[in-house]
Amino acid sequence: MIPNLSHQENIKQDYFAFLSALSATKYSGEIEKSYASRLAVATDNSVYQCLPQAVLFPRSTQDIVEICKLAQDAQFKNIRFSPRGGGTGTNGQSLSNDLVLDLSRFMNQIIELNEGEGWVRVQTGVVKDQLNDYLRPFGLFFSPDLSTSNRATIGGMVSCDASGQGSLVYGKTSDHVLALKSVLVDGQVLDSAPLMGDALAEQSARQDSIGAVYRQVIETCAGKQPQIEQGFPKLNRFLTGYDLKHVYDAQTGSVDLTRILCGAEGSLAFITEAKLHVQKIPTYRTLFNVKYDSFQSALQNAPFLVQANALSVETIDSKVLNLAKQDIVWHSVSRLITDVPNKIVEGLNVVEFVEEDEQIQAQKVNDLIIKLDQLIASEEAGVIAYQICNDLDDINKIYGMRKKAVGLLGKTAGSAKPIAFVEDTCVPPENLAAYIIEFRQLLDDHNLHYGMFGHVDAGVLHVRPALDMCDPEQEKMLRNISDKVVALTSKYKGLMWGEHGKGFRSEYSPEFFGEELFTELRKIKAVFDPQNRVNPGKICTPINSDELLVSVDAVKRGTFDRQIPIKVRESFKESIDCNGNGLCFNYDTKSPMCPSVKITRDRRHSPKGRAGLMREWLRQLANNDIDVLQLEEDLYAGKNASIFRKFTNTLGKRKGEYDFSHEVMEAMQGCLACKACTSQCPIQVDVPTFRARFMHLYHDRYLRPLKDYFVAYVEQYAPVMGKAPQFFNFFMGMKLTATLTEKFVGMVDIPLLSSPTLSASLKNQDVVEFDLSRLQALTDAQRKEYVLIVQDPFTTFYDTDVVRDVVLTIKKLGYKPVILPFKANGKPQHIKGFLDKFAKTAKDSAQFLNQMADLNIPMVGTDPAMVLCYRDEYKQALGENRGNFHVQLFQEWLLTRLSGDKKASNGKQYFLLGHCTEVTAEPTSSTDWAAIFNHFGAQFINVPVGCCGMAGTYGHDAAHLADSKAIYSLSWEAEIAKRERGQCLATGYSCRSQVKRIEGQTLKHPVQALLEIL
Ligand SMILES: Cc1cc2nc3c(=O)[nH]c(=O)nc-3n(C[C@H](O)[C@H](O)[C@H](O)COP(=O)(O)OP(=O)(O)OC[C@H]3O[C@@H](n4cnc5c(N)ncnc54)[C@H](O)[C@@H]3O)c2cc1C
Ligand code: SF4
Ligand code: SF4
Repeated sequence: MIPNLSHQENIKQDYFAFLSALSATKYSGEIEKSYASRLAVATDNSVYQCLPQAVLFPRSTQDIVEICKLAQDAQFKNIRFSPRGGGTGTNGQSLSNDLVLDLSRFMNQIIELNEGEGWVRVQTGVVKDQLNDYLRPFGLFFSPDLSTSNRATIGGMVSCDASGQGSLVYGKTSDHVLALKSVLVDGQVLDSAPLMGDALAEQSARQDSIGAVYRQVIETCAGKQPQIEQGFPKLNRFLTGYDLKHVYDAQTGSVDLTRILCGAEGSLAFITEAKLHVQKIPTYRTLFNVKYDSFQSALQNAPFLVQANALSVETIDSKVLNLAKQDIVWHSVSRLITDVPNKIVEGLNVVEFVEEDEQIQAQKVNDLIIKLDQLIASEEAGVIAYQICNDLDDINKIYGMRKKAVGLLGKTAGSAKPIAFVEDTCVPPENLAAYIIEFRQLLDDHNLHYGMFGHVDAGVLHVRPALDMCDPEQEKMLRNISDKVVALTSKYKGLMWGEHGKGFRSEYSPEFFGEELFTELRKIKAVFDPQNRVNPGKICTPINSDELLVSVDAVKRGTFDRQIPIKVRESFKESIDCNGNGLCFNYDTKSPMCPSVKITRDRRHSPKGRAGLMREWLRQLANNDIDVLQLEEDLYAGKNASIFRKFTNTLGKRKGEYDFSHEVMEAMQGCLACKACTSQCPIQVDVPTFRARFMHLYHDRYLRPLKDYFVAYVEQYAPVMGKAPQFFNFFMGMKLTATLTEKFVGMVDIPLLSSPTLSASLKNQDVVEFDLSRLQALTDAQRKEYVLIVQDPFTTFYDTDVVRDVVLTIKKLGYKPVILPFKANGKPQHIKGFLDKFAKTAKDSAQFLNQMADLNIPMVGTDPAMVLCYRDEYKQALGENRGNFHVQLFQEWLLTRLSGDKKASNGKQYFLLGHCTEVTAEPTSSTDWAAIFNHFGAQFINVPVGCCGMAGTYGHDAAHLADSKAIYSLSWEAEIAKRERGQCLATGYSCRSQVKRIEGQTLKHPVQALLEIL
């Protein structure tokens, strides 16, 4: 049995006192002190891990003023803070052992748009894609781009001065910041924008911290202009923190403090609002995918493409390309980046042209076509082929793949994982090719594997060497390589931090800036933050203080992970491997990725949060000398803890006894087990799998709630109740039953059984009865006429019409359907972590289905979640013993049997709202359905939606009712409201029952629509 895990890093006394005092002020935000909440922000995408004392979630600028003012009290003089947005930093920028101020949860409003003047004012917790989705209907966009655009916040972008694809033309974030509102550490609110003349004089004359800031910044930036000009690199990406070069304009005499704050990595102030320049979305866009025989050829050819007046040129190597090919993202781009016959594509340049004028655009595109054709014909420059893409959706898909590429680099077999520490170096583009040769040599000399891609137009290279941070020797190599790369970039007149900022690499700042300029940086830090209280140690420390800079040798995640035994790490790979890139925080409500974090905005309820908690849980078990794998084996062998012990443990829990496992459980319970993470996460962090394992072990210590049994045994009681549906519905339909079920079981809106039963509804339909010996006696030719229908408890007993219509459709298509006897699938047991029971159910069911597979007749299932369970959970539970049986989804089966000419259009139009497990695990499902409907003359449109909020039984859990409905309202509600209900289709039983309970009317399964048009 797992022990009670009572150890946790306690909050320091003065922080505790500060948080209590803060609760008594007008501060209206949230304060989270739980160990789980602190762990959820203890990592970013870097190799570092810092546990903060607590996390504050302010709701307004005023809340941050309250925090800072309170911190001025002498008793709180040691309290320090770090601002945080999306937490996607690659170098630990937002990590802190102090207080984290997370602006992403509440401060995410778009305040004001001025279309005429081309600006928008936002709170800094707004996500970049959220902003552009808002601006799109106005024909506008915020142009600086970054790969993490679906989760990085404006505050993080401003503070790291983010940039990416298109930076040659669009520049960096700082180029588009018109004004900022910030709170200084003493609680003063600083409104910054370019100032000159009297306005500047007035601010400089102030006798408060703002006046001091102006005076120092002027003294540095105006007074040291020649040294700054001399010392700062002449690069498109110039440099982050603090950008002394662009603050002072000698011609106009203007001073712009926003330039100091941009790229300051939260080390000067809390930025709460930003006024941003927005521009017109270009009318004409064309993208070339130029293919090369080597990565080096692609790099060397990039300047030629830039000279062709391209907006951007992005280079990808074959390693990254091959990783993308194995990921779900490839389905969206495979036809846009096809293979070249008899050649191997080892490098790719993604080249984009944008224009307002159609003719100019056509000219640029034609010019490049001619040049590329010449290169191919003469076999020059390594160009082997190219493809052109004008469709906006397709262009976005290619960039989607490119944006996912950094994350994909993390998905590598073995314990050495590609990690960020030299991942964004920048050199003048003309030096890039030579620089890369030396860089590669350096990595090869250390026998390191890596993938490469980058913004070659700007000279930025993304490289993540693979190191095992659990191995102390390899950890030392990180320092060694870092030092050498700093020297190498310096040799090629470049920067170590070309895109992602400094964070724990700040220790290289003095060397980079030189003593004189670095002293100026420290003076600036000192006027903003004399006591070094805001993101201390990042970029620089205040002058006249003996505070230290953070170092690349700081405590890393590997320090904790290596405490977990290797065999446990390997067994729990699906949580250990999370590299924190934050893709699972995807803000897009139409993406299936993690509905639970979307609705709660609580990072504990994300795949990353859950993976982090699981890692810590495994670490604590290991430190308690618990062999978690042995414990699991014991459970499978039936060696459970006694009910009495479970009872006393549960009593302790009820009395409030602390156990870290409860915090982990809370996060796991919020998971819908929708499996979007399993396929959408670039590393394939698989929460439902480790969640089930956790629950299995947790409930060996603590009693289960009644609802777990209610869910897990549905496949046992539904067939019994399904024999007399009217009788049971009589009781189930009573208000009293609903009240009692909610109160004592914790379940709501329990669906009624279908009536008539399946066999009754097929009574006069001349359906062949299942008879194994008769089926075995069929000839091979006869078998081709048959289809076996695999039942599941939900459609058979609660949505019988769908199974009936599957049978009738198969018949109408000229085949003989045979309904197989009902066999429990086990998915509900898996969801609730009854893993020993699930293993038995799966074994039994697999044995039966393997026997049926021997008939060599196709087997078709109706509900995607249940069918996909045979493919995934069965493989995990049974391994080799699963056998080779294959249950197809209806569309998979029918697609291979379409024959004859396509029918003429019947004018019918249908819309599919996909099931999240299905669309993520089988991304071709909607196009398969579309091909089938088109074949029969109907139009079929896929509607992008997120999760419906039901996800099996999650939506029936009383504790989740509000969240379930809120998830539905994120995307389904509006999409259904837009259309005729009869034209909307859903493959998932869960989705149909969610629509039924919310809209009062169910949707059809696509098979039912097909039956109408056949
Ligand atoms: C897979 C991957 C790809 C990436 N690709 C790119 C890319 O293409 N281009 C690029 O530029 N970067 C890229 N990054 C780096 C990162 O996404 C950016 O730096 C991003 O701007 C950080 O935003 P965030 O909201 O996640 O900030 P966080 O990581 O939360 O914070 C970053 C820094 O900003 C500070 N900060 C955040 N909000 C505030 C605020 N309101 N006030 C003051 N300080 C604040 C923090 O203290 C911290 O120092 C990538 C990262 C990953 C993981
Ligand atoms: S769970 Fe996956 S997507 Fe989320 S942070 Fe971890 S690796 Fe990235
Ligand atoms: S299964 Fe779904 S809800 Fe659970 S963590 Fe994964 S994406 Fe989130």
